[in-house]
Amino acid sequence: MVLADASIAYGRIPALERVSGRVLAGRTVALIGPNGAGKSTLIKAVLGLVPVVSGSITVLGQAPARARREVGYVPQADTLDPDFPVSVAQVVLMGRYRQVGWVRRPGAADRAAAAEALETVGLAHRARDRFGTLSGGQRQRVLLARAIAARPRLLLLDEPFNGVDAVSQDALLAALAKLTAAGTAVVISTHDLALAHLACDEVCLLNRHQFAFGPPAATLTPELLRAAYGGAA
Ligand code: ATP
Repeated sequence: MVLADASIAYGRIPALERVSGRVLAGRTVALIGPNGAGKSTLIKAVLGLVPVVSGSITVLGQAPARARREVGYVPQADTLDPDFPVSVAQVVLMGRYRQVGWVRRPGAADRAAAAEALETVGLAHRARDRFGTLSGGQRQRVLLARAIAARPRLLLLDEPFNGVDAVSQDALLAALAKLTAAGTAVVISTHDLALAHLACDEVCLLNRHQFAFGPPAATLTPELLRAAYGGAA
């Protein structure tokens, strides 16, 4: 994914100005910035849901909307109603809807991809349980498995560690490490600097525009953080 001086707006309201950087295969980039900085907006633009008004975003060599099939998205777990009456395995199988389409029923290959994805996040033993009976961290892992089941080449995660306990954080990190080792590019929106240092190759530091893009040690400096967070720091 390549961002070249990309500016993004909601109608006439500018949300992000002149963001540049790249996310290579097998690398992990953290999006860091205060609330309202534009992290979710950038993710939406990469998914092709919000237009780029100037500059460009290229995803796997194509315009965002065209690359959509190869891009996975993991929302925060609380976006899926825990009372939704489905099993963990069914939630993960939803990740295969693009492969399944509207006509065909999920087949053995879809079920195998879903089972493998659930194994990757360490929850194979909970496949038959009702989604709503899992902890918040486990639900987050299930949503990661749902995205993995589609075998994306680029994976976007919106604050995946919010309110997630240590065991599930560890499982999420292990799953992401497995994906990047296999060549998947990963973008994580997060407020967690320690996580960015631990698990990310690069950081994109944002607040309405870009303050830095580079390795955590070079971008998460007191000076740059104060500049990006302004009065909030
Ligand atoms: P948080 O950490 O709170 O999730 P964020 O960095 O993800 O924040 P965004 O949600 O991308 O920030 O919001 C960036 C700016 O765009 C904010 O000023 C927000 O009010 C505005 N915005 C977000 N969604 C819309 C929308 N649908 N229409 C108009 N403005 C929007």
